[in-house]
Amino acid sequence: MAKLHSQTLAVRSGIETDPVYGAVVPPIYTSSNFAFSDFREPGQFDYARSGNPGTKLLENTLAELEQGAGAIVTNCGLAGITLLMQLLEQGDTLVVPHDAYGGSLRLFKALAQKGHFNLEVVDQTDEQQLKQALASKPKMIWLETPSNPLLRIVDIQLVCDIAKQQGTLVAVDNTFLSPILQKPLNLGADFVLHSCTKYINGHSDALGGVVVCADAQQAEDLGWWANCLGLTDCSALNNYMVLRGVRTLSARMAVHQQNARQLVDALRAHPQVTKLYYPGLEEHPGHEIAKKQQAGFGGMFSFELKGDLNQVQALLSRLELFSIAESLGGTESLICCPSTMTHRSMDAESQQKAGIAPTLLRVSAGIEHGDDLVADLINALNSLEA
Ligand SMILES: *Cc1c(COP(=O)(O)O)cnc(C)c1O
Repeated sequence: MAKLHSQTLAVRSGIETDPVYGAVVPPIYTSSNFAFSDFREPGQFDYARSGNPGTKLLENTLAELEQGAGAIVTNCGLAGITLLMQLLEQGDTLVVPHDAYGGSLRLFKALAQKGHFNLEVVDQTDEQQLKQALASKPKMIWLETPSNPLLRIVDIQLVCDIAKQQGTLVAVDNTFLSPILQKPLNLGADFVLHSCTKYINGHSDALGGVVVCADAQQAEDLGWWANCLGLTDCSALNNYMVLRGVRTLSARMAVHQQNARQLVDALRAHPQVTKLYYPGLEEHPGHEIAKKQQAGFGGMFSFELKGDLNQVQALLSRLELFSIAESLGGTESLICCPSTMTHRSMDAESQQKAGIAPTLLRVSAGIEHGDDLVADLINALNSLEA
């Protein structure tokens, strides 16, 4: 058969493989324990921390979607990042973007402070800074593109081309786009990280993470570490929920993206909106790179509101179809104010340096009807002018 599309893989992976009853949907094995066929002979599974049939299926599905050689499912995204940090030793250097996800940066900084590795935090959209950081031949470079909350874009292939020549490992946090819209391993990356809590599960009702590896030996080694450190997702029910989310991933991404675009177009001309951040806009920095490396522009965008936090409060209180919440990638639309929510641990000066204005708002477009979302947001914005 011809190579299957992601849409088909996401839906079909593991379907109708039950050897006992012919269940179309793979069953859930909640057992923490699996019997040995003989006291010298463990079966495929022995103790559920090191895996169960559902974990294996989820790992195979996500590895196929990212076109990797293997995957390790972890109990959340940060557990996956912790796992990748095992590849670094004392004296090694890790290069990370200054606008990485807050929890990732906190982890990188805390481990570096304990002497686990040296950390270099750079603005990766500044090509000179990026190339300078790579010139020091770090052990690993961490990319997150598009970034949060300003949707900054980094050229994955450019970084991989340099990294490959000198043995630097490249890890890409692909949470914002999912494998439907971006496949970093095909651009030369060694690892992809996802917070499955976001688009992959997509229903805001389960946490999860995954590390997908380009190399089978790396996958095996990291699988060993995940079991050793207790980072695996040990819950069969949780694995099932995440795989259930994967079934509709491509259909959801299409609507998330369509709604984001419709909202962005509606905000474009609004007098209360002073800035718009969406990689699909021609004037967005990195738009051309996004066009090259992404299969779409995604469901996330940010905008700056005219005025101050009073205006933010007034706007948010009038919205009916956007929940004021952190996180992203669920079926329901969310709005958040990074300066007082996701990025509140940064002081005002650091926020300003990072380009996070007090009235910046980040939207995770859900899969409601786009017209309803636009009407709600425009209605709330119009009421500010009155
Ligand atoms: C949420 C998130 C993480 C962390 O994942 P958890 O599942 O919350 O541990 C990492 N990176 C990005 C981009 C995220 O949005």
